[in-house]
Amino acid sequence: MSPPRTATTDEPPRFEFAPTSAVKAARSHNRFVACPACQADTPAYLFHRAGVRFVRCAGCGAVYVNPARERPLNYFDVERTRRFSNPRDRALMAADFERLLEHLAADHQRITGEPLVRAVLLGHYLKEFATGPVARRIGLSIAEIDDASFERLSIASDIAWAMPLLANAPQIVILHELLEACSAPGTILGTLVASLPPSTLFVVTYTNADSLPARLMRRYWSTFFDHKAAFLSTGNLTAVLARYGLVLKTSSRCR
Ligand SMILES: [Zn+2]
Repeated sequence: MSPPRTATTDEPPRFEFAPTSAVKAARSHNRFVACPACQADTPAYLFHRAGVRFVRCAGCGAVYVNPARERPLNYFDVERTRRFSNPRDRALMAADFERLLEHLAADHQRITGEPLVRAVLLGHYLKEFATGPVARRIGLSIAEIDDASFERLSIASDIAWAMPLLANAPQIVILHELLEACSAPGTILGTLVASLPPSTLFVVTYTNADSLPARLMRRYWSTFFDHKAAFLSTGNLTAVLARYGLVLKTSSRCR
C-alpha cells in the first residue's frame, strides 16, 4: 500500500470538468422555434433526452423539439436508418406500402373520377416502393434525398430537392411522414401549394399523437423523437393544412 499523498505546494486545488455528450448536445441547440402546428410561442417543458428538449404547445397540444436540432438525422432513407436483420421485414414494409398505394388509387378515382397515373412520394422511402405493380401502374416517382437536402428541408423548409418531380404536375403528392421532420411544416405546405396545380391532392401520412396506441405508449415517445422534430395529431394537421386552403377529403388509419 502506498502512503497517502500530501500537497507539496500552496497552490489551491483545481477542478476541471468535461461536459457529457448530453450537455454538449444541449449547448449546441439554441435555435428556438415556434409551434410547428399553430405558430404560437407558448411551449411547456415535457422532458429531455440526450440533450434534446421536448415541449408541448399550450395552444394546440402539439409536441415538438425546441430548440430545434442543428444536425437533424435524415430518416427518410429507410435503407440508412434501419438495418433489416430479416429480409422478410423489408418485404413486409414494401407490401404494406403497396397496399397504401392501392387504397390511394381507389380514393383518387372516387374523388376525381380520373385514374391515377402520376404520383410523387416525398418522405420516408425504400427504393422498392416504386417498383411494385401498383406503384408502376400509378406512375409513382420517389424524391430520394441526401443528407444536405434533408438538413435544408428540416431547418430551412427548403424543398428544392423535390422540385424536378413536382414540375410534372403530379395528381397526388404523398407526404410520407415528412411534416414531422420539419420545424415549420406550414412553410413547406405553402411552397408545395404554390408550385402545384390546384387539382393536386395531398396525402399526408403521420404518427397520430392522439391515437390510442400513441397515448398508451407514451413512455416510448422519447425514442420516436430520436429522428423526428414534431409529434402531431389529426387536429394539428388539419389546422395546418387549412391555413393553405387544403381541406380534408378522406382519412383512414394504417397499422
Ligand atoms: Zn401549437
